[in-house]
This record gives sequence, C-alpha cells and structure tokens, in this order.
Amino acid sequence: MTELTHATERVQLAEERDRVVEQLRQLGRAPGTEELSYDEGFADTAAATAERGEVDALAGQLLESLQDIDDALAKIDAGTYGRCESCGNEISPPRLEAMPTARLCIVCASQRR
Ligand SMILES: [Zn+2]
Repeated sequence: MTELTHATERVQLAEERDRVVEQLRQLGRAPGTEELSYDEGFADTAAATAERGEVDALAGQLLESLQDIDDALAKIDAGTYGRCESCGNEISPPRLEAMPTARLCIVCASQRR
C-alpha cells in the first residue's frame, strides 16, 4: 500500500527539524541568527579554541541534517519523496522508516562508500 501524502514521514521530519533547530539555537547557530561573537580573552585559550572547533563541527553536522530534512520535506511536496536520487528506484519503506531523510536506495548508498 502506497501512501502518497507521506503524512507520517512529514510529521516525523517536522519533529526532527524542530529538534535540530533547537540544538542549533543552543549552540547559537540557528539559521538567521548572528554568529556568536567570542569573548577575546576567553577565545585566547587553547581549550576555548578546541571547544569552538567542536561547536563548529557539531553545528556543521546539524546544518547538514537540517538541509536533508528540508530537502525531504520539499520532495514530499513535489511528490518525489521515497525515490532514490541516483537511480530513481523506490527506497525501501524500512530504510525510509529508519532514515526518513535518506536520499539514496540501499544499493546506491552502499556503492558510494
Ligand atoms: Zn538507487
């Protein structure tokens, strides 16, 4: 049975999006917010530099997730959700359930590694 509206995935993705945005907000990196200005004395220490690097890395991952989520939501709207971006075959439902933002079918995903 094919559910063309993908209502469940849409809700899942919206919730996931909220979580990601909230995490970004806690890091001070939510889209649309000014980049945090670091206190200069604090930023001089190696520990602060390392911490900033970790925040950058984490924020980068979160922004990638956000992009994946937005793309998946756009695909639901466009009616192309659940199709592999590489070969165009359907992505298996269990894979989509485990990873609602999957862009590739299992075959293409395994070939890319
Ligand atoms: Zn594929």
